[in-house]
Amino acid sequence: MDTRKGGHRYCPNCKKIMQTRVLLEGYSQTEFHGIPVKKRQIICGTDAEGSNGCGTKWFTLEILEDQVLGKAGKKSGSSESRDFRGRS
Ligand SMILES: [Zn+2]
Repeated sequence: MDTRKGGHRYCPNCKKIMQTRVLLEGYSQTEFHGIPVKKRQIICGTDAEGSNGCGTKWFTLEILEDQVLGKAGKKSGSSESRDFRGRS
């Protein structure tokens, strides 16, 4: 089974931050309330068998912040017009 480093994530079973792997076979593009999201399957452990972890598998959804908060969730909506040209 193919995996990628998942980094350290909170494991809902261990109830603490654990080293995880991303199971590539569990990856998919899906929708959440009409918003396109990336779905990933995570396993608690350092390989696909859950070594050094409890082996619990769960899914995460990656959602663009803008699509959750919308324009109303941003402070005064000025981020797009902010001027960085003076920082050279
Ligand atoms: Zn765990």
